[in-house]
Amino acid sequence: MSRLLIVGPPGAGKGTQAALITTTYGIPDVSTGDIFRANIKNETPLGMQVKAILDRGEYVSDELTNNLVKSRLEEDDAREGFLLDGYPRTLEQVRYLDELLASKGQALDAVIQLVADQDEVVARLTKRALEQGRADDTEEVIRHRQEVYARETTPLIAVYGDRGLLVEVDGLGAVDEVAARINEALASRGITATESSVETA
Ligand code: AMP
Repeated sequence: MSRLLIVGPPGAGKGTQAALITTTYGIPDVSTGDIFRANIKNETPLGMQVKAILDRGEYVSDELTNNLVKSRLEEDDAREGFLLDGYPRTLEQVRYLDELLASKGQALDAVIQLVADQDEVVARLTKRALEQGRADDTEEVIRHRQEVYARETTPLIAVYGDRGLLVEVDGLGAVDEVAARINEALASRGITATESSVETA
């Protein structure tokens, strides 16, 4: 079972690839954003606590987010392997995750970094916004989101790069092509799909 993290700019198809990775490698997708949104939808105490923060587009506190991930990784399906998605996002979260995994004798196996030409992503997203009538998704807003992403992830990428964990994959192209690139890049590091998932694939 593999312990992976996926990062990628808005519009690079991270969600789609994350879903494919979980099937291929037989590991759950642990997306903190999805967990927060599900809690808001179900109006749980956690959801009530974080709703305003998500609405403002701010970060939930490290403490709350770290505790959430800790309990999620203790669930049966994630004990031996997982795909983290949207976490860690701050250096404090990186530190916490390191300690958490170390306390179980574990560590991340690889960090998949989806990369995509910024202009192509912007073109793709502005087209989608037009098609879906999302008038608020102007090129300016989309470019701003790309800048925020770059600013926020650069320090994390540096940390994982120093550890030799980064697996850079071109995220532009057909979904199955990108998925094949990810699988090849992971295989070249000795990370292969689980037997059971290959059988059922
Ligand atoms: P996402 O879908 O990953 O963009 O996450 C949606 C929202 O959830 C973010 O804008 C934050 O408010 C919150 N969130 C998700 N992951 C984290 C994290 N690792 N640390 C802090 N806040 C987070």
